Amino acid sequence: MKETIVDTRAWIERFAAVIDERGAELTELDRRAGDGDYGTNLRSALAKVRANLAADDPRTAGEVFTAVSNAFLHTGGTSGPLFGMWFREFAKGLGDEVSAGSLARAAGEAEATVRRLGGAEVGHKTMVDAMVPAAEALAAAAERGADVETALKEAAAAADAGARSTEALLAKRGRASYVGEHARGVTDPGALTVAWFFEAATK
Ligand code: ADP
Ligand code: MG
Ligand code: MG
Repeated sequence: MKETIVDTRAWIERFAAVIDERGAELTELDRRAGDGDYGTNLRSALAKVRANLAADDPRTAGEVFTAVSNAFLHTGGTSGPLFGMWFREFAKGLGDEVSAGSLARAAGEAEATVRRLGGAEVGHKTMVDAMVPAAEALAAAAERGADVETALKEAAAAADAGARSTEALLAKRGRASYVGEHARGVTDPGALTVAWFFEAATK
């Protein structure tokens, strides 16, 4: 099996840059089917991520994701703690090197943790709608011996399809579930964030 090294710190920095550029789009989605604070919550989390990376100077993938997880766990909104616990599984599952196999196992634990804590399943119009297909894509790629870049590209495509699938849905969890039919036609911002996160891995 061919394994290559992914620079997780550069990955997180690219993710933060995407949120800087496109955070307003996410807030607009949360405004249409929520309370309009999503982009603010996410930007605040990423400011803490940058501060943690600067302070901790992490050397391994596990340490990078610990810095990310701690930042999200100290951020408000429903999304902050859920992403914090999601990233925590990447911190636990990844050592100094990232392989398709270790990523697949971590992403599987991570989506299961979010589903357990938030009580959302696929189709409930939340971040879970992108997390689960991304984890499945990583598992399938690892299973056939794909390299880590290929696995991450496939995860990004699966997460993007999952995020786009939320547009047509009614929400069963989160604030979007309070607005009923008004949420139809609005992509879930948490799911879109997961897609952007995986896209940032291989840019
Ligand atoms: P709040 O509703 O507290 O303002 P945020 O705006 O921070 O929350 O986050 C909203 C996002 O959180 C949604 O787009 C959705 O992806 C996610 N979300 C909300 N509730 C749940 C849940 N029960 N399980 C998983 N994800 C959820
Ligand atoms: Mg909100
Ligand atoms: Mg809120």
